Amino acid sequence: MIQLRAHHGMCIKKFEGKGYNKEFVENMTRVIEQLEKEPIMISLNEDILCECCPHNKNGCETNEKVKRYDKECLDGCGIKEGDQMMFRDYSRLIDMKLKSTGRWKDICSDCEWSGICHTE
Ligand code: SF4
Ligand code: SF4
Repeated sequence: MIQLRAHHGMCIKKFEGKGYNKEFVENMTRVIEQLEKEPIMISLNEDILCECCPHNKNGCETNEKVKRYDKECLDGCGIKEGDQMMFRDYSRLIDMKLKSTGRWKDICSDCEWSGICHTE
């Protein structure tokens, strides 16, 4: 079971091999492979991606912002902390509830990566 913070579902869908540093990118690549085989548990805390993030200093440096992303992602998808599913099903939910409704952009337009993720 892979613990995944809610908004990272969106980040994973937009991942194109870029990230904070080499270690972060390598870890994210490995996690994405794992997600095809193992179920996820939705979390609101530091997760398997945060483990290799340079902004994780005993917790995320941008905690206030990412908690907001997590909460809005949960609300938008109609799920809750602790829910378990395969990533492909979470990915479908994100497409249906956040992408096609335009809500995704509202959730994380102030993220430093929005230039990549929100450019069609
Ligand atoms: S803009 Fe930021 S929070 Fe939103 S999906 Fe991209 S990396 Fe994730
Ligand atoms: S910026 Fe924060 S939420 Fe995002 S991966 Fe790093 S520690 Fe985790």
